[in-house]
Formats: sequence, structure tokens, C-alpha cells
Amino acid sequence: MTCEIIMDLIPMYADRSASRETCLLVEKHIKKCSSCRRFLNSCLKTEKKGMFNQAGLEKLRGNLRSFECDIPSVDAEFARLSSKLKKRKLRTIIISSIIAAGMLAYIVADIVNAVKQTYRKMR
Ligand SMILES: [Zn+2]
Repeated sequence: MTCEIIMDLIPMYADRSASRETCLLVEKHIKKCSSCRRFLNSCLKTEKKGMFNQAGLEKLRGNLRSFECDIPSVDAEFARLSSKLKKRKLRTIIISSIIAAGMLAYIVADIVNAVKQTYRKMR
């Protein structure tokens, strides 16, 4: 669940129009995310003052830019994972190339040896 979605839900949560399930979602998220928690707190303060209307909400949303999220977004997480996987794949390719090269060198040396021995016997 991204912060953007949670911040969409928080106003509903603050004025208690959200469903039970939405409330649980919001509560679960704000436990881990301090920026959404700050946003909720400012929503709740506005609600207490009786200023929780469209204009008040717009003002709060205007402040959203200053709320940096603590939880990496799904996209960032995905990019991190896929670059990790790419690195691992590259490592596998390098290691198997080294093994293949080693085996090839061994086989070539074996053939060279066999040829040498045959050559000696022929003399
Ligand atoms: Zn958040």
C-alpha cells in the first residue's frame, strides 16, 4: 500500500467516514510510516477545530510535498530487487564461464598430452 493511497484515505479516516476495513488499513500503515502519521495528526487537528472542509483539505494536501515517505515505494523496491537479481545473474554467468574455460583448458591439455604420447610411440 503506497503512501499516496493512504493519504487519500486519511481524510475519510479523520472525519470518521471511512469503513472499518479502511480504518484498519490506515492504522496499520501509520504504525510504520511517520510522514503519513504526521499527515493524519494534522488532519485530526483540523477536524477538531471544525475546519475539516474542502478548503482545509486542500491546504493540507498542499503541505503534502513536505512529507517524505519513510517506506520505499513499490517501484523503488522493485527496482532494487531487479538490480540485485541482475547482479546475481551476471555473477552466475561469469562463474560458469570460468568453469567452462577451466574445463576446456583441461580437455585441451589432455588432448595435447595424448598427441605427444602417440608421437613419441611412433618414433
Ligand atoms: Zn506512508
